[in-house]
Amino acid sequence: MGPSRQLLRAVILGSPGSGKHSLSLRIVKHFQLKKLSSGDLLRDNVLRDTEIGVLAKDLMGQGKLIPDDLMTRLTLQELKNLTQYSWLLCGFPRTLAQAEALDRVHQIHLVINLNVPFEVIMQHLDARWVHPASGRVYDLEFNPPKVAGTDDLTGELLIKREDDRPETLIKRLRAYEDQTKPVLEHYQKKGVLETFSGTDTNKLWPYIHACLQAKLAQIHQHPHEEKCL
Ligand code: AMP
Repeated sequence: MGPSRQLLRAVILGSPGSGKHSLSLRIVKHFQLKKLSSGDLLRDNVLRDTEIGVLAKDLMGQGKLIPDDLMTRLTLQELKNLTQYSWLLCGFPRTLAQAEALDRVHQIHLVINLNVPFEVIMQHLDARWVHPASGRVYDLEFNPPKVAGTDDLTGELLIKREDDRPETLIKRLRAYEDQTKPVLEHYQKKGVLETFSGTDTNKLWPYIHACLQAKLAQIHQHPHEEKCL
């Protein structure tokens, strides 16, 4: 494949519990994109007990963000493996400093912002359970375990993710809003922000699908044009 002119560089933004994870899976499947999730990247480092993982575990457990320089280095390093592909970033950038650092390396074509009411977010997070050893995630509504409370493959007990506990959650949601507001404004100014509001991601899907399709057609026709549709 030639230079990256025809490759889509997209970001999906949404608070914890907004349905960002399942929507991004749907997007990458339909449009054959590679997905890079900052949360998954960090959890993988925690599981492997890397230097970053040890630090991240503590901060994530307290509902705090990973420092910008560390998070940016980790993400940009990982993106080097994806230069040949169209990609969707999930969970990064979370702060203006991260967005600016990303801009210095990649031109972002589209930012999908999910705007989901607080009560719906709380319901989603309440339904989420994990198998700590593997990181497998279950959702009591959409993806329940075969036997209640246990992992399908090992039969071991499921737990609440440390950072899904109510006291940590409120902190995470507040931090998310404070940190992301300037990021939204930044992408709005660049004309690449598309916000989708609703309670049910299934209902948002046709609009998101149409937006992505239009954006892909646009970058194929006008690869160097920055303005959104
Ligand atoms: P998530 O799976 O996206 O909810 O992320 C889980 C946790 O990982 C967050 O609460 C943060 O502690 C950390 N994290 C994920 N993405 C970022 C980021 N872009 N910047 C800083 N911290 C992050």
